[in-house]
Amino acid sequence: MSTIVEIQDTITVGDLAEKISIPVTKLITELMKNGVMVTVNERIDFDTAEIIVGELALDYELKLKSVTHQTDEMNKKLNKTVSDSAETRPPVVAVMGHVDHGKTSLLDAIRGTKTTDDESGGITQHISAYQVAHNDRKITLLDTPGHEAFAAIREHGARLTDLAIIVVAADDGIKPQTQEAIRFAKNAGVKIVVAVNKIDKPDADINRIKQQLADQELLIEEWGGDIVLQPVSAITKEGIPELLDMILLVADVEDLRADVDVPGQGLIIESRMEQGKGAVAVALIEAGTVKPGDYIVAGATYARIRTLTDTNNQPIQAAGPATPIVVTGFKELPEFGDTFFVVQDEKIARTKAKNHAISHRQISGKVNVNSLELLKIMNRSKELNELNIYIKADVKGSLTSLMDSLRSLATDEVAVRVIGSGIGAITDSDVQLAQSSSAIIYGFHVQPTKSAKQIAARDNVMIETYDVIYELIDNIKQQLSTLLAPEIKETELGRVLIKGVFKTTKNDIICGGEVTKGKLTLPALARVVRDKEEIAEAEVIGLQRGPNEAKEVVEGEMCGLHLKTNTKIPVEVDDRIELFTRETIIRKL
Ligand code: GDP
Repeated sequence: MSTIVEIQDTITVGDLAEKISIPVTKLITELMKNGVMVTVNERIDFDTAEIIVGELALDYELKLKSVTHQTDEMNKKLNKTVSDSAETRPPVVAVMGHVDHGKTSLLDAIRGTKTTDDESGGITQHISAYQVAHNDRKITLLDTPGHEAFAAIREHGARLTDLAIIVVAADDGIKPQTQEAIRFAKNAGVKIVVAVNKIDKPDADINRIKQQLADQELLIEEWGGDIVLQPVSAITKEGIPELLDMILLVADVEDLRADVDVPGQGLIIESRMEQGKGAVAVALIEAGTVKPGDYIVAGATYARIRTLTDTNNQPIQAAGPATPIVVTGFKELPEFGDTFFVVQDEKIARTKAKNHAISHRQISGKVNVNSLELLKIMNRSKELNELNIYIKADVKGSLTSLMDSLRSLATDEVAVRVIGSGIGAITDSDVQLAQSSSAIIYGFHVQPTKSAKQIAARDNVMIETYDVIYELIDNIKQQLSTLLAPEIKETELGRVLIKGVFKTTKNDIICGGEVTKGKLTLPALARVVRDKEEIAEAEVIGLQRGPNEAKEVVEGEMCGLHLKTNTKIPVEVDDRIELFTRETIIRKL
């Protein structure tokens, strides 16, 4: 059983070391190994702390303090675990595709299949998410008005979408935005259903699209692949029920389930001020149940839910997983992308919102400095560190030769993963896609557009542009080098057999003994060894020969040691203390 240690959203390195009973130097070394350069008094956030404690394989488990459950954390994990009592939930579906291929018309047609009966006067006000019923089951549709919104949702870490419908006009075929949509969906790891729209048109050519899809490495079922393709017409409604059947079928295969009997939690997907209502938030529940009157925290604000309705304005008494809800009662406007969760009472809600505000401020400054490093640990796979990059070039030829050069860069430890590439200037959506995959953008003979530059600066996306291939490759090499775990070199200075312990306080030990090997000098670290087992590590802050401070003490001489630790380790007579130095050597490719 591991010991549970409760910490706040952020903690100083020194405090954490104390709580998990290891020398602060060891913790700093581990952080450095993971690319986080911090000193003893600097703060790291909960996520980083949790990862590091995990890496150290200690018998400690970190928990967020003063929260009834770890929703923020849970939401960040892509593969959420659910309990045995989890229930089947509706699939959450996003519709994407090239402009004018019929996304809006298709969404309207799908809504029409359910809402024709109770729609009062066909209100066409934009709503970001809604549910439709098909065969007595529900489907949640996200009305993402473009890839930007989809990217933004991804960027906020939640796996909100289970399935993407890629709309392709049968008379037009696959276009650049279709390709981009496919890339988005693939990168997000969501299932793809292709809706070939406008089949009512005389020049519709479904076979051509099947071939084009194969060119994009999407092989349809008919051809032995696993991509579901459904011909539809948003105008005649042909194929729409079948499309919904397919969505449910894919959902069944995915076995989408969520816990219902837990406090509600999810993501804010829209928020606005409305006259007479105040702050109104549209949210998508990911797990649990939300009811009117619940206390709910979203980012730095909270609410006692005053009204709870579905996105058709109908009041609901309790809403479960994958349901889009409209909530009023927030003190301030929550932000798009804030995770929300239900808490027990107002006091917890207030504290949690306040803590979020504080930790957000503290972290954001830090993240700017270290974001790349932090992202790297977050994205790191255990064995292989990958550098995500996104490449834009002026012509196909240079893109091909760049790709070839990149292949030679991989080693056993690190590799380059090209998450996207294309010809032409670096655009807004390149930046968004790069951000959602924590990638660096490389431009070869191309520059970012003005607004792409602004977005990149705002969102902390790195853009590197080059006119010489080897300089570009050199930069990638440098970036890859930062992914290599630094080499930690320890050099033993000497050993002391402890003959007496003179003073121990909480953090200080003064002891003495005979140097049995080597030559002791400062600065040094000390390892306390008892019965051949290392029991602690400390910093040596003083070295004495007799009553005097000494610069060095050699084998055969008696010496005094002043050790400093973070935890109380009583050194005993007959313990062996080994003095050593530790260097962190940054490696290069
Ligand atoms: P979006 O930009 O992808 O949202 O595309 P829209 O839904 O706005 O549709 C673009 C145009 O295609 C509009 O003029 C629609 O009326 C037309 N359209 C959409 N779906 C169909 C269809 O199934 N058949 C035909 N003939 N026209 C369609």
